[in-house]
Amino acid sequence: MNAHTFVSTRGRAPAASFADVLLAALAPDGGLYLPQAWPQFSATELAAFKGVSYQEAAYQVLSRFTGPFFSETELREVIAAAYSDFDAPEIAPLVEIEKDRYLLELFHGPTLAFKDIALQVLGQLFSRALAKRGGRATIVAATSGDTGSAAIAALGGLPNIDVFVMHPKGRVSDVQRLQMTTSAHANVHNIALEGSFDDAQSIVKALFADTAFAKKVSLTAVNSINFARIAAQSVYYLTATSALGRPATFVVPTGNFGDIFAGEAAWRMGLSVERLVIATNSNDIMARALNEGVYASGDAKPTLSPSMDIQVASNFERALFEACDRDADWATAAMNDFTRDKRLALPQEVLARLRARYSAFAKDDAATIDAIKAVHAQTGRIIDPHTAIGVAAARDLKDAPGPVVVLSTAHPAKFPDAVARAIGAAPPVPKRLQGLETKPERVETLPHSLPLIRDFISSRLGS
Ligand SMILES: *Cc1c(COP(=O)(O)O)cnc(C)c1O
Repeated sequence: MNAHTFVSTRGRAPAASFADVLLAALAPDGGLYLPQAWPQFSATELAAFKGVSYQEAAYQVLSRFTGPFFSETELREVIAAAYSDFDAPEIAPLVEIEKDRYLLELFHGPTLAFKDIALQVLGQLFSRALAKRGGRATIVAATSGDTGSAAIAALGGLPNIDVFVMHPKGRVSDVQRLQMTTSAHANVHNIALEGSFDDAQSIVKALFADTAFAKKVSLTAVNSINFARIAAQSVYYLTATSALGRPATFVVPTGNFGDIFAGEAAWRMGLSVERLVIATNSNDIMARALNEGVYASGDAKPTLSPSMDIQVASNFERALFEACDRDADWATAAMNDFTRDKRLALPQEVLARLRARYSAFAKDDAATIDAIKAVHAQTGRIIDPHTAIGVAAARDLKDAPGPVVVLSTAHPAKFPDAVARAIGAAPPVPKRLQGLETKPERVETLPHSLPLIRDFISSRLGS
């Protein structure tokens, strides 16, 4: 049993190496990969994180998962390159906004959202892995806004890779759209899908399910179903905790459950975590699952926090697999039931285990605006609407012992309209976003149709 051999949550895929997992993303049995055993950090090893650079912490964590595929030098080069274009030397700075209340700022990368922290690593890993193994990769990503631009920033211009990014037409902010569609790299292909984010995600799933096509184009994914994302995101839970010197309650603005599951990963690696708090917007599937015991999807509603407008939280499968003691038969049956009925009643024992780790709160647009306003009035800081959902949820935490850390997932300038509604003015536009509206856009509008999207991908490969 080790941390660089991976198993599927559905239990019917052969054990895989880190490189297999990176390049395949989804397991061939339709499940999600997890390490056969979580790496364990001793108390002494965790204490040693204090004061080391973010890059060193990332090396300590990622090397446990990558195993022998990358040499130490290679992995250190990957990490150095990944974090070379961040605006904050700490990469993920922790900012105190009131006594024992912190923001963990994860938006200092090239596209100003937390997705950069993992995707910049993934881009470098892909490039190295393809150079070693040979061949090409076709990456397809469904995005509710931030994954797409972060994937494009990480993968645009890399050899042997084509990136197809599908966003729900009209449901991402203008800044988010422009960040994607103004890429000048020939290997970047944008699709505006006539449908919701969940429609886009279901197309991605269907493309993977078409195994002949997936094999022909070497299809892979960089959304949080790719375990490498989870591994890279677990690092900031460790660095934040060691900076605080005490276990924290982490409040995580949640959509696809990837970011918060990275917290569970850190916890399973030995980190002391007080609690993980799921903060959702009105698309509250995860809050209902935890609070009512039924994981049931509805229709995604547009909100002020579009990157969380999700009704299926893919990574919840990983948490369920752990909560049932890795009973792959149960997990498979549960996920099949959910796919069929759009509803899954959680057994008492599974629910009790989830509740031992997680709490959940849903907050609406009005609470989002209030939280932006309140933080601005108290501290002069401008937060984005996703972070605001976390801040609003954190206010409901009565007597959390120790520090409360809200993950601040995007720069406010990505969501100027919501900010302006709250405080009467849009935030200043950072350099990275200046001049986007004058660049030419490249995007293809396509209907919610698997065959048409498949044809589009085939026609653009290597072009
Ligand atoms: C992706 C995203 C989230 C949600 O993260 P998940 O890993 O999908 O739960 C929250 N906030 C922002 C700004 C995001 O881009």
